[in-house]
Amino acid sequence: MRTAVFSTHAYDREFLEPAAQKTGHELVFFEARLTPQTVPLAAGFPAICSFVNDSLSREILTTLAAGGTKFIALRCAGFNQVDLAAAAELEIRVARVPAYSPYSVAEHTVALMLALNRKLHRAYTRVRDSNFALDGLLGFDFHGRTVGVIGTGKIGLCTAKILAGFGCELLFYDVYQNPEAATLGRYVPLEQLLTASDIITLHCPLTPDTYHLIGDATLAKMKPGVMIVNTSRGALVDTRAAIEALKSGQIGYLGLDVYEEEADLFFRDLSGVVIQDDQFSRLLTFPNVLVTAHQAFFTRNALTEIARVTMANLTAAEQGETLVNEVMVPR
Ligand code: NAD
Repeated sequence: MRTAVFSTHAYDREFLEPAAQKTGHELVFFEARLTPQTVPLAAGFPAICSFVNDSLSREILTTLAAGGTKFIALRCAGFNQVDLAAAAELEIRVARVPAYSPYSVAEHTVALMLALNRKLHRAYTRVRDSNFALDGLLGFDFHGRTVGVIGTGKIGLCTAKILAGFGCELLFYDVYQNPEAATLGRYVPLEQLLTASDIITLHCPLTPDTYHLIGDATLAKMKPGVMIVNTSRGALVDTRAAIEALKSGQIGYLGLDVYEEEADLFFRDLSGVVIQDDQFSRLLTFPNVLVTAHQAFFTRNALTEIARVTMANLTAAEQGETLVNEVMVPR
């Protein structure tokens, strides 16, 4: 299928091109993010392939439909960026890559936790400056600490398994209970998870229910000095509230791989540019905040699987087969 691929980087081509060759799909790569300004590039393409920060609003979907697009292959798991009701009305089908490597995201989550605890980001620069003093680098044992996992699907479960290996006590909150997770820890009400956890890690999708799940009210219930890690979606955390909680010490450590306004920042080299997002800049001033730019998924294994499943989705759509990874409007 002739497909316009948006938000393409060299690493995307490296994995998508061989997968397309094997399956006979014709990919046309655009570096641009999909926005109201760039959507005309998709005119005449029956399919487009997009990533996490490509907008698929009603306005953009309407332009895509008018240009003949019938299928959207998301090369990611999350689909909060898609107006699914509009897509259904416009008869555009949408498929995603539901599980490419939960290990990649879980391992990065735990990397953020460990780095924050042992202050590796500070130790790295300190040692390079021949400062071998340990003051300020004191950490704690993960063994015996209570970790609250919000969202116990594929990534939450993988994260829980790693933390169980460290000897952490695990508390879970989810709208559905995962029997495998239940063997590693206890499901508790959200309030109990918030009050009892030393570390809270977010692995639920971004929905109207989870928007700003971490905000003034939930932060106030947590243990002072709590560690929060978000590798899920930026808008699960109210950045303004997090900054206030960092200033007061209520948050002791904050690890973010995602940020609610990341679309204007991440996946690009802005090193010569003055950042205009004051909240983001403020976050970077805290010594106990560690931000990575949506790289949790970024392993060779994950990119190989994303390319393979994306091509399979294109093939199924083109040949009218059952679209096993179709994303539908939630009932
Ligand atoms: P999943 O669908 O397997 O699991 C999500 C879990 O969240 C499910 O168990 C679901 O029941 C639960 N959930 C839904 N609504 C909830 C709510 N209101 N409160 C509590 N739990 C709720 O998804 P996954 O593959 O584990 O991915 C989790 C999230 O990770 C995705 O939604 C995506 O946004 C994010 N993600 C991030 C990256 C990255 O690179 N940073 C990569 C992949 C996925």
